[in-house]
Amino acid sequence: MPSKSDVTMPGISADELDKTKDVYRSLQEKLEYLFDSLAREKINLELQMIEAKKFKLAVDSASDNIVITDSMGTIFYINKATENNTGYAFNEVVGKNPGELWGGKMKPEYYAEMWHKIKVKKEVFVGQFENVRKNGEKYIAAVDISSVLDEYGEILFFVSIERDITREIMIERMKDEFVGLASHQLRTPLTGIKWFSELLIRNKYNNLNAEQLDFLEQIKISNQRMVKLVNELLDISHIETGQKFEIKKADFKVNDVLNEVLTENISLIKTKTLNIINKIPDNLLIFADYVKIRQVLSNLVSNATKYSPANKDINISVVPDDGKGFAVISVADQGMGIPAAQKSRLFEKFFRADNARIQEPNGTGLGLYIARELIRAHGGELWFESDENKGTTFIFSIPLKIN
Ligand code: ADP
Repeated sequence: MPSKSDVTMPGISADELDKTKDVYRSLQEKLEYLFDSLAREKINLELQMIEAKKFKLAVDSASDNIVITDSMGTIFYINKATENNTGYAFNEVVGKNPGELWGGKMKPEYYAEMWHKIKVKKEVFVGQFENVRKNGEKYIAAVDISSVLDEYGEILFFVSIERDITREIMIERMKDEFVGLASHQLRTPLTGIKWFSELLIRNKYNNLNAEQLDFLEQIKISNQRMVKLVNELLDISHIETGQKFEIKKADFKVNDVLNEVLTENISLIKTKTLNIINKIPDNLLIFADYVKIRQVLSNLVSNATKYSPANKDINISVVPDDGKGFAVISVADQGMGIPAAQKSRLFEKFFRADNARIQEPNGTGLGLYIARELIRAHGGELWFESDENKGTTFIFSIPLKIN
């Protein structure tokens, strides 16, 4: 409690002395508060520095290349992985542009697209670069470049994360070449088995009993499955090695193909007593490759029958013209559907949904992937709508007959 001063000083009244003491005391309190805040601030700064050091250490020792540039692409940071991968030391790259070092080997349009994405749209660029190490060796990098913006949305710097995928790409190429070669070699013996088993099944000389004929039927079915797989693998290696499908276009009736496909699936349709409702008008003509469209419809119809329980409908219909000269054809079933969580993976090669695997162990997960590529090779698109346990509709667009 402040008390009136009982000490007097010459020329200064007791009141004045008290006021001076009050001022001094409040000053002392403020100073103490200030020192306190400063001490706290110092601790905070030290903690932040520890955090920053930890963060730098993590970035420094990350296994992917991390490169940070200013808004003009001038490098001010690379991590150790970048030094190891490119062969350039930190001091050699700072102040330079990646284009003068390991980059700059792609077509100018590719870089223009990259700059547009990160600088104008301020979005993440995801791509692949063919770069060159300091020792002249080429390498392929999978790259993500993000722009870091300030509070006004202006670019502060770019962070590029690169992974050397040269080995993966080489292995992938070798695998595709191997699959292509092996499938080719398998075709000839499989065709032999097909011909001779069919010849025996026809039982021309009546010297086979029912059991032997049944065995032969099993050989034929297994062989057909093998032929289908080999053909699918060949298609895959075709797609993966970047070769274009040879599309031989002609006008033909959709129903001609469809009838062939339905006949091919007739035994399962009958066993499951499925109700096929074909609403495609008989005069619907498309301009496409007959064999390839047969392959697509065969995949969609056989899936609809395979993945439907008994006594359900399969509806095949068309929206004849989407205004762009395409017919939009759909195959709808009332089957098991596709689990919501797995829909995004449906067109991945070898992917099979969990419910399909359980119910139908035989399957490759290749048909749909190929079907979509075949439709795309015609300039169309293939997609689907599905509700688990309710059904699935596959839809594709295909050029109509040119008038
Ligand atoms: P496969 O039928 O040999 O497994 P596909 O590539 O034709 O290969 O199909 C891939 C997967 O897509 C199937 O395994 C299944 O999970 C799912 N699928 C395709 N069609 C249907 C359908 N009509 N109903 C439910 N699931 C389907």
